[in-house]
Amino acid sequence: MFLTELSCGLCGKSHSKSLLQTVCQNCQRPLLASYDLKAVSAILSRKDLAGREPSLWRYREVLPVPADEEPVSFREGWTPLLPAPRFGPEIGLPNVWIKDESQNPTGSFKARGMSVAVSMAKHYGATALAVPSAGNAAGALAAYAARTGLPAYLFMPEDTPRANVVECAATGARITLVKGLITDCAREVARRAAVEGWFDLSTLREPYRLEGKKTLGYEIAEQMGWQLPDVILYPTGGGTGLIGMWKAFHEMEQLGWISSKRPRMVAVQAAGCCPIVAAFNAGERFATEHLNASTMASGLRVPKAIGDFLILDAVNQSGGTSLAIIDREMLEAVKRVGATEGLFVAPESAACCAAAGKLAKSGWIRSDETVIIFNTGTGLKYPECFADFTGSERLPPAHD
Ligand SMILES: *Cc1c(COP(=O)(O)O)cnc(C)c1O
Ligand SMILES: [Zn+2]
Repeated sequence: MFLTELSCGLCGKSHSKSLLQTVCQNCQRPLLASYDLKAVSAILSRKDLAGREPSLWRYREVLPVPADEEPVSFREGWTPLLPAPRFGPEIGLPNVWIKDESQNPTGSFKARGMSVAVSMAKHYGATALAVPSAGNAAGALAAYAARTGLPAYLFMPEDTPRANVVECAATGARITLVKGLITDCAREVARRAAVEGWFDLSTLREPYRLEGKKTLGYEIAEQMGWQLPDVILYPTGGGTGLIGMWKAFHEMEQLGWISSKRPRMVAVQAAGCCPIVAAFNAGERFATEHLNASTMASGLRVPKAIGDFLILDAVNQSGGTSLAIIDREMLEAVKRVGATEGLFVAPESAACCAAAGKLAKSGWIRSDETVIIFNTGTGLKYPECFADFTGSERLPPAHD
């Protein structure tokens, strides 16, 4: 195993990897895992990856689970990077690719983070797992906890899409619905975790969900022949995927696998909850809480992100941008990408599709640039949002 230590993303304080860590003891900000990348590059080259298993575990050397331990896995990751030959040209971008994360176990990219984080929690001896969630993180934790025989305690806002609640119940989790937002759920988990003996897997409050999510960066590099795209659009709630990809790009450069060229990172949010967009526009490194957050894109309903500065640093260093999309535009984009590409995307991803169109129109993305849009989850989990998507005609009753 090549994991060396954990260090704070803000103050840099080093933390030992020999116990299950949460946040920085000094400043309570996220911890980032470091690896001995020199040693990895001595035994692993890009070519060695070619024949490996089609899951995120093909990057085993840069993941924290010890080599002699079996990860808790459903073979997540290595999702297709699909061309968008009709949707792309329609919005003026002929070189658009959609990374289809809806094909992950439990239908969203939350599976990546939970596979690695649950594997590590198990490794360190955790006996019960808990998470506050807008929906998809709970569904993923429920599945991975059941897979390894640990109880899962899930806290979701009471207006979470029903499919998320049902999948958690079906996989044996203990569910609490909370009147309020994910921040209220997080407060409840934090308050009870110590007495109940739960390990809290909240976004960026333990170091390993990020390690699972960073494999998005490794995969797009490998799938594009080690040439990163010009622009990446990411639907940003807590920001794990965006921060993870940025970390992966840095690691791959150290490994000698990619050059120093980086994509411009675009953090897309919902107009009803856009603390990162507000901070970006104000030129701030930290975001203030978005009050009265409201959007149908439940994964984007994150009023305050502990990794705000990591998101904003990546966006700024990459020459990227951040913009907000209203719910009605998300619904329109769901239909548009659905009809042109046959993908039923989650509203979070639809926000990225709409954002790509806007950035193309304004000239911020040029038509010759290569663009990746993330479809982070399946639209099938959001029936409430699409209640009036019938599009059907009723035939009159048949008579003989
Ligand atoms: C959680 C989630 C997001 C946001 O991901 P973060 O890593 O928290 O920014 C986006 N889309 C979907 C479908 C999600 O479930
Ligand atoms: Zn710190």
